[in-house]
Amino acid sequence: MKVKTTKITMKQDGNISSAYEALMDCTLCPRNCHVDRTDGGVGFCGTGKALVVSSVGPHFGEEPPISGHYGSGTVFLAGCGLLCDFCQNHNISHGRAGNVMTEAELVRAIMRLQQIGCHNINFVTPTHFTPHIIEVVSLARTRGLRIPVVYNCGGYESIETLKMLEGFVDIYMPDIKFLNSELAERYCRARNYPSIVRAAVKEMHRQVGDLEIGETGLASRGLLIRHLVMPGAAADSRAVIDFIADEISPASYVNVMEQYRPSYKAYKYPELNRPLTDKEFKDVFDYAANRGLRLA
Ligand code: SF4
Repeated sequence: MKVKTTKITMKQDGNISSAYEALMDCTLCPRNCHVDRTDGGVGFCGTGKALVVSSVGPHFGEEPPISGHYGSGTVFLAGCGLLCDFCQNHNISHGRAGNVMTEAELVRAIMRLQQIGCHNINFVTPTHFTPHIIEVVSLARTRGLRIPVVYNCGGYESIETLKMLEGFVDIYMPDIKFLNSELAERYCRARNYPSIVRAAVKEMHRQVGDLEIGETGLASRGLLIRHLVMPGAAADSRAVIDFIADEISPASYVNVMEQYRPSYKAYKYPELNRPLTDKEFKDVFDYAANRGLRLA
């Protein structure tokens, strides 16, 4: 892979300090808690000032252009600003399972991932730790990090926070969970998720464009969108596909995911308390294929 020589610009230096300042009146995500996380305050995401990491290691279950042969260097962050009731990683998101790490420790860990051959550094659910991520990427690049940085998020992102990330992220990998406010309110208490995710994915696409995949089959830059097909929500899935094709790009790379299983508090909702059927998945997948999207 071609070696990158990314320099930290004055603008990006400014992004690091203003990102940390954002913790003092936290509006890093659209929950807009306005708590001072530098002084013991804890908002909806359940995290304070310290960086809490659940695990660091190669991951082989991502899309082929991300996992490749040697894995995606994945950093699972503890906590989450969205907290869906059907979360399949609820011990990490709701339970905040993990250990405090300093930025310097995480830099050493991700440099090791590059050393063992991982194709990228993949921050999972990073939004509430954006200042820490920016500093870690900045430091790591000065120490020779040359593989792409992936921002693997739930799509519930503020535009201001995404603008801070410009230049630090090579590949955005957001979910688009729903475009139906009732579903977003019911399962995540986030009625504004649809309008937020529409604007966020447009901003991500503005920054990095469509997914670029090289001759080796690995992604180097761009946008990879995920949509988990939910039981009984075919109309909303079609709306998600139409939004991507019509308002993002017809060349978007999309993973239509079939792995929905009832998890965590999904039992509370009769319509969610069953696996997806093959037909439900195939109908959405075929719809996306007919719209001409690049499917994982
Ligand atoms: S990152 Fe956490 S504290 Fe900050 S606005 Fe989002 S949920 Fe609230």
